[in-house]
Amino acid sequence: MATIDNLPPLRDVINTHDLRAKKSLGQNFLLDLNLTAKIARQAGDLTGCDVLEIGPGPGGLTRGLLAEGARRVLAIEKDARCLPALAEIGAAYPDRLTVLNADALELNPLEHLNAPIRVVANLPYNVGTELLVRWLTPASWPPFWSSLTLMFQKEVAQRITAQVGSKAYGRLAILSQWRADAKMVMTLPPEAFTPPPKISSAVVHLTALPEPRFPADPAVLNRVVAAGFNQRRKMLRASLKGVAPDIEDHLIAADIKPTDRAEVVHLEQWCALARNILA
Ligand code: SAM
Repeated sequence: MATIDNLPPLRDVINTHDLRAKKSLGQNFLLDLNLTAKIARQAGDLTGCDVLEIGPGPGGLTRGLLAEGARRVLAIEKDARCLPALAEIGAAYPDRLTVLNADALELNPLEHLNAPIRVVANLPYNVGTELLVRWLTPASWPPFWSSLTLMFQKEVAQRITAQVGSKAYGRLAILSQWRADAKMVMTLPPEAFTPPPKISSAVVHLTALPEPRFPADPAVLNRVVAAGFNQRRKMLRASLKGVAPDIEDHLIAADIKPTDRAEVVHLEQWCALARNILA
C-alpha cells in the first residue's frame, strides 16, 4: 500500500504494538493512509493551523494531518496502548505532535493550543455527538475552533446537515446550522475500517460563522427547538404550550402557523420565535 511518509504501514504498526481493536473504546481503525490524507484535506488548509485530534488510535489520521502540513497536532487518546505508536510518529515529525493520554470528555485542551485551531477526529459515535454539542454551545461566540471535521455514523451526519422538511431535520440540524456552515464531505463504507462497523460512516465539515446566522438567545432557542422536536408529530401550539403563555401569539408574530409541526419550521423562524418570546 502506498505510504504518505517514511513510517511503517499501519497494519505493521498494529501488529508491532499489538493494537487489537477494543469494542468498549469504539475502535474501528482507518489503515489506508491515502484515505486518511484525503480526510485531512477535507479540513482545509492546515498550514499555519494547530489541529486538535481526538482519538488518534494507531495514528493513521494523525499522519495524514501532519503530512498535509498542520503546524502542530495535539492528539488526545484515552487508550495508553496507542502511545508507543504515536511516539514513533512524533519522532518522525519533530516538535509538531503532542500526545496527551486522557479522556477527551474530561480534559480542556485549550491551554495547549494556539489560534487558528481546526478540530479533526474519527471518534466513537457517542463521544463524538457529545463533543460536537459542547463545541457548538460555548459560553461565547465565536468559538475556539475555526472548523470541525468529524467522522460520524452516516445517519448522524445526515441529522447534522438536514434541511427543513426532511425526516432527519431536528435539534442537531438547528444547533449545527445556526452558527456554522455544515456539509457532508465524504461517505465511507464499513470496509474502510478495521474491524468494519455495521453501518456506513460520513465525514462532516463545519465552519464557524463569525456570528449567528440570525440573532437569538441560545438558551431560549434551545428551549423552543427542544420542545418542538420532542413531540415532533404534534402541532406547535400543543408541543410548545409549556414554553410560554400566549404561545399562539408568539408563533403568529414569528410567521409560524400554530398548526404547523416542528419539521417545517425554518431556522430563521425558530430564531424569530425565540426573539419574540424574550421581547
Ligand atoms: N483516529 C483513528 C483512526 O482513524 O484510525 C482511531 C479511530 S477509533 C474510531 C476512535 C479512537 O478514539 C480510538 O483510538 C479510541 O481509543 C479513542 N477514544 C475513545 N474514547 C475516547 C475518549 N473519551 N477520549 C479520547 N479518545 C477516545
